[in-house]
Amino acid sequence: MEQNIIVNNQYIGRFAPSPTGRLHIGSLLCAVGSFLDARANNGKWLVRIEDLDPPREEIGATDDILRTLHAFALHWDGEVVYQSKRHHLYREALDYLLEKGEVYPCFCSRKTIKENGIIGIDGMVYNGNCRKQSNFQSAGKNPAYRLYVDADEISFNDSIIGCYKQNIKNEVGDFILLRADGLWAYQLAVVVDDAMQKVNHIVRGQDLLVSTPRQIYLAKRLHYPAIQYAHLPLLTNRQGQKWSKQTLAPHLDLNHKEDLLRQVLIYLGLPQPIPADSCENILRWAVANWNIKQVPVNSIISEN
Ligand code: GLU
Repeated sequence: MEQNIIVNNQYIGRFAPSPTGRLHIGSLLCAVGSFLDARANNGKWLVRIEDLDPPREEIGATDDILRTLHAFALHWDGEVVYQSKRHHLYREALDYLLEKGEVYPCFCSRKTIKENGIIGIDGMVYNGNCRKQSNFQSAGKNPAYRLYVDADEISFNDSIIGCYKQNIKNEVGDFILLRADGLWAYQLAVVVDDAMQKVNHIVRGQDLLVSTPRQIYLAKRLHYPAIQYAHLPLLTNRQGQKWSKQTLAPHLDLNHKEDLLRQVLIYLGLPQPIPADSCENILRWAVANWNIKQVPVNSIISEN
């Protein structure tokens, strides 16, 4: 299944952090990359806080993220959107798919999924056990809801990586939209929000590349317009692990924010020398010099 890109409306991009911790050099790179691509295309740049998984969130992280974006002069358009206030939109989308017979309840436990599934590109591939039992009710147990996946190959043209293909049926299988514990799955929320916010360009980290075919497939099921994607290189520690909260990414030292910003621009392939100036002026220069084709594909070791 090929994607048709619709590009005739105004560019709308976004940065969508989860408030699981403070921004680090890797998330700063994603914020800056998505900001520059939007601004260089005279586009809007939105910020959405993806706060749908309270157990994984850190108190104060949202404020910290927004303050940090401001400190780097990454000024967004409009109001910040919070996923925690948008449950009704995810419910509407799920109800629509339920009505069309595109999703089914799944009562399988983690254990049976592990025992019966095979390992795919992003965890276990579900074996479709509950497909056959759509009227089955398991007493006292809330089901998860899964989307029927009947497409084989999904391919799209990434602005940085080029053509990316995934056999979504074999490598992912029917995926969850609503978890048995009542939490909305990232895949559903992100697709619904991007469509509702009219986002038509997504620039984000390569850790999410494996999710993109699922999101394209789901967006099609919901008749949402296609999106142009660009996946940025990952920043890693010396061991090649992506910087994250788990790999103890160092906090951004705002006393050296101009140096950090210049460093990120080098990682993003901007021409050197990068001016030594305020963040505001460095970003202005970077917008004028931005070329997404210069962004490297491979991961980069970063000391920060
Ligand atoms: N909230 C996701 C994260 O912080 C990013 C979602 C996205 O950009 O699609 O990893």
